[in-house]
Amino acid sequence: MKINEIGGEFALIDRLARTSPTNHKDLFKGIGDDAAVIRGFFPNQESLLVTTDMLVDNRHFRRDWATAHQIGSKAITCNASDIAAMGGTPTFLFVSIALTENTLVAWMDDLYKGMSEVCRQYGIVLAGGDTTKADSLSISITLLGRVAPQNLCLRSQARPDDLLCVTGPLGGSAAGLTFLTMGQNPPERIRAKHFMPGCRLDVSPAIAPLAGAMIDISDGLAAEVNHICNQSGTGAKIFAEKIPIDAFVQKAAALSGKTPIAYALSGGEDFELLFSISPMNWRQLGEKGVETFVVGRVTESGSGRVLVSPEGDHVPLTGGYNHFA
Ligand code: ADP
Ligand code: MG
Repeated sequence: MKINEIGGEFALIDRLARTSPTNHKDLFKGIGDDAAVIRGFFPNQESLLVTTDMLVDNRHFRRDWATAHQIGSKAITCNASDIAAMGGTPTFLFVSIALTENTLVAWMDDLYKGMSEVCRQYGIVLAGGDTTKADSLSISITLLGRVAPQNLCLRSQARPDDLLCVTGPLGGSAAGLTFLTMGQNPPERIRAKHFMPGCRLDVSPAIAPLAGAMIDISDGLAAEVNHICNQSGTGAKIFAEKIPIDAFVQKAAALSGKTPIAYALSGGEDFELLFSISPMNWRQLGEKGVETFVVGRVTESGSGRVLVSPEGDHVPLTGGYNHFA
């Protein structure tokens, strides 16, 4: 049987996890969130966070489009974004690389310069890794972090009537990809969003103690809302008109023939945060000077996951990236 026949990436992970030991008294959250949450490592009440992501040549990056510096920078950012989504602070980094015979030393130097730049920005320290030879190049990043109990935000913590909010405009990274695949040079700002995205560790410490559930937007808004609903046992209503969309998405949409909203729902790799929060706490967040955008509401599970179009039509909230699906 092929992987798409069982439902793709997430069905496969569930299936594999069923055959492995996954319970331990100190494993507060294992598979199913942006990072694992492990207790008992720190003398205070903090938990250890662990996240890992694999980047494969010609799938996650193209060496004829992106510099090694950009690939290194993005590799760290996408993992740091997972730590931000848990409400945590990133700490130690492990980098495992499979290299082809003709990989140049200068390319590797640049890759590590790109990684170091982001590490310095967030106080992340390289602590180990592994190097091996293979037929194609891949990079696996494991990032540790720590989080205090009052800041921990699980995907399972959304409650009906909470607001659903995002930290910034969506679709920019996918818009950059449209320009590139159409053989056009993306505008500078959108190029940067695609090749050197930031993550929201600048605002996550302020959001985390006030939020319920939180997740980073790596696979598109629709997929992330569905992850929160699956883990929280809730429904959701998203208003298309309220989704902040990057200004350049319109231009990319004109090129590709897709709608701008499809970029926000399915584009991915924006690395903004999606979180649930009570209306009272959202006001408090605004008073702290943290601007976020309300895109919808958490509802009871029976109400399903719904997108309300600008015309007021209710359609199922689908879309988002799923390898193999
Ligand atoms: P993210 O997009 O936030 O990086 P993923 O969608 O990659 O998260 O992963 C979802 C969950 O599945 C995470 O808890 C991750 O650790 C787990 N996971 C992914 N792949 C595997 C695997 N091959 N074996 C075990 N767990 C996995
Ligand atoms: Mg994530």
